[in-house]
Amino acid sequence: MTLKDITTPYSDIKKTEQMPVLFLGHGSPMNAIEDNEFVQGFKTLANTLPKPNSILCISAHWYTNGTYVTAMQKPRTIHDFGGFPQELYQVQYPANGSPLLAKETKELIHKTTIEPDEKWGLDHGAWSVIKHLFPKADIPVIQLSIDYTKSAQYHFELAQELSSLRNKGVLIIGSGNIIHNLGLVDFQNFDKDNYGYDWAIEARETINKHILDYNFKELIKYEKLGSPAKLAIPTPDHYLPLLYSLALKGKNEKIILFNDKLLGGSLSMTSLKIDKA
Ligand code: ZN
Repeated sequence: MTLKDITTPYSDIKKTEQMPVLFLGHGSPMNAIEDNEFVQGFKTLANTLPKPNSILCISAHWYTNGTYVTAMQKPRTIHDFGGFPQELYQVQYPANGSPLLAKETKELIHKTTIEPDEKWGLDHGAWSVIKHLFPKADIPVIQLSIDYTKSAQYHFELAQELSSLRNKGVLIIGSGNIIHNLGLVDFQNFDKDNYGYDWAIEARETINKHILDYNFKELIKYEKLGSPAKLAIPTPDHYLPLLYSLALKGKNEKIILFNDKLLGGSLSMTSLKIDKA
């Protein structure tokens, strides 16, 4: 099926109550099969969510030249990592895609031309966390890629164009990690509770304060947040999904943080839900 074959516009889908927006710190792919406090955090969150019609995920792991949206009916489960136990490679998340939502997303975005994609699928930034929210895989999921040639301001503005989907039963999820310096991870202390280097502690404090004060302008200019933030965000891939989520916050909504812990010195699992106040 191609996008041209679809005749029922997604815009005909009746309005729903506004769906919350999520940013999920996905951390290690092992979270897909482990049972730890972060997985418990995702499961607890799931109990607070209305059932969406479909999910649109912006994952740190689909980082492209240009912007794409997955448009296949049956997205494959992509095991886009190496060196993990065999058990992890056997995980499948057989949710359907939604060519219809892909088409609607393409039509909604005016900032750029979104290209439909038939090759990607669901990467672990999407399935390793969505699986804990909707274990039955009975909600269609599409992914929107992140154009690595564009600025943070650009991504924030593009994300705002997705806002009407929230009233059509679409749960929008950004999936990354706010603090993500893989090169500096202390794997010997990976199990140590809430363990962060001094700069990570400082970066988390600064960034969380801006999130909770709704100072999104400061967060868009993350390169000016000082040296702790520079170490926390050595490359923008895992940070930009946060901006996609924040860009969708409405005036009368609040932000609730959860899984707000540091891990292995140089990572954070901080996640959030944007919902009516
Ligand atoms: Zn990742």
